[in-house]
Amino acid sequence: MAKHYAMAVVVAKCIGCQACTVACKFQNNVPEGQYRTKTPVVGPKGTFPNVSMYFLKEACQMCQDAPCVKVCPTKASHYNEAGVVLVDVDKCVGCKYCLTACPYDARFINKDTGAADKCTFCWEARVSQGQAPACVSTCVGGALVFGDEKDPNSEIAKLLSKNKGEVRKEEFGTRPSIYYIFQGVK
Ligand code: SF4
Ligand code: SF4
Ligand code: SF4
Repeated sequence: MAKHYAMAVVVAKCIGCQACTVACKFQNNVPEGQYRTKTPVVGPKGTFPNVSMYFLKEACQMCQDAPCVKVCPTKASHYNEAGVVLVDVDKCVGCKYCLTACPYDARFINKDTGAADKCTFCWEARVSQGQAPACVSTCVGGALVFGDEKDPNSEIAKLLSKNKGEVRKEEFGTRPSIYYIFQGVK
């Protein structure tokens, strides 16, 4: 069976330290002032005493039905052999169609390369070499779990079998591969 790499974010464990943000920039040489991932605060929401506030890691949602891939006129945006959405820098003409099409505001034009950029699941440097993504390895709170969700023995499959993973903007039909577990925060 083909693998399907996915990430689970256990929101209650995220302390908003931004270690993932920094690790990502370092690992992927992301230019100053640009980010593949950020973890902003959400809230406070509700009325006292029923108030909630948490940090939410944002990045490309690795859609399985990705609008960015559909609109790309040069096929620079594509799925690789493992179904990970990537950008071929040499094919990208910087038209920004994909930036507009992405419902998650996950893309930007890299100031150094002039090409569309976003989270790659650290494919080239880490995951294809058997390592976890930089943000996952660095997460202080242990809030990020990564792996093949089709492997029933993987940590992520076990986690998602016991906890409901929610996807962002489900109504867009993009079928994200990032699951948010909100147990204990809302
Ligand atoms: S989140 Fe945006 S950039 Fe990432 S795969 Fe989905 S549409 Fe493409
Ligand atoms: S900016 Fe690049 S990756 Fe995005 S749609 Fe245009 S050619 Fe494709
Ligand atoms: S998987 Fe890699 S590229 Fe994506 S947010 Fe984490 S560190 Fe950045």
